[in-house]
Amino acid sequence: MAAVDYLRSGGVVGVPTETVYGLAASAFNVEAVSEIYRLKGRPANNPLILHIHHQDQIEQIASTIPSCLPRIVEAFWPGPLTVVLKSKTSVPEIVRAGGDTVAIRLPSHPVFQQLLATINEPLAAPSANRSNHISPTTASHVEDDFPKEPFPILDAGPTATGLESTVLSLVGVPTVLRLGATSVESLKQILPELTIKIPSHQTDSPGTSKRHYAPRTPFHIWSNQNLTTEDGVLLFGTPVPEGADHVWDLSDDPVQAGKRLYAALREMDQSHLRNLYVVLPHQDHPNQTDWLAITDRLRRATQSG
Ligand code: AMP
Ligand code: MG
Repeated sequence: MAAVDYLRSGGVVGVPTETVYGLAASAFNVEAVSEIYRLKGRPANNPLILHIHHQDQIEQIASTIPSCLPRIVEAFWPGPLTVVLKSKTSVPEIVRAGGDTVAIRLPSHPVFQQLLATINEPLAAPSANRSNHISPTTASHVEDDFPKEPFPILDAGPTATGLESTVLSLVGVPTVLRLGATSVESLKQILPELTIKIPSHQTDSPGTSKRHYAPRTPFHIWSNQNLTTEDGVLLFGTPVPEGADHVWDLSDDPVQAGKRLYAALREMDQSHLRNLYVVLPHQDHPNQTDWLAITDRLRRATQSG
């Protein structure tokens, strides 16, 4: 596999995962990891997720294994759940952004799994977009964000879930730091004491910084503003607001909507409209929790700061 040689020689490779495309580098090669930060324009205080293909690799990375971890691994790996554990000091500081914890995930995408198994070492891989821009769910989204950077991309078609992994800290009380493709309800079945603390500050879990996942066209939450023919509207199976000309309806099914969300935001951004609006999904819906991750992304994408 050419990608393996490229990674072994310190290169960066675009990789498919079941959540979004990632930008992978050998986790123990500090120069390769710095190249990820340079390409993304990612702040140095935003740590990276390490990806593994076998749970035995946890011991190479984490210094403490919490007693609940085997149950979590059994229930959710491979899959879109990232766990944060106390880090071994051998994990380069750049990966941890200087902190004493490390984020780990065992992904389910067969192409990424095969790459991880062949290279047989952890790969650091954040989402393959410029920092704070919309996450990529196809290989061409990755190319669009890095038009002048000739790193290879393994194209495996559109990703399956379309939303990033849920980030769960198991340091101290189990705490969700980022809402994502693994539901809070399913985690609570194994961890009844689970709390949710979505950090608002970069140093806690920086993917959660205020403005994120954002299109370049001004993007607002729709609250009955008058619409013109130059406005685009994103909605989730609710009635089309009066005057809306350009409408993206992602349906009232949160799984389908999550899958299509980022591609729709990119398409809206490329439609040369003046303003984009979103009618937030189903705030009084009985299955409101299914929409938590999507609503979180939309709130961040519409933040101005
Ligand atoms: P990305 O891979 O770009 O989707 O972002 C990775 C996410 O994992 C961000 O929200 C990071 O802040 C979070 N993350 C990575 N490492 C850690 C860590 N050691 N502690 C807390 N959050 C982390
Ligand atoms: Mg990201």
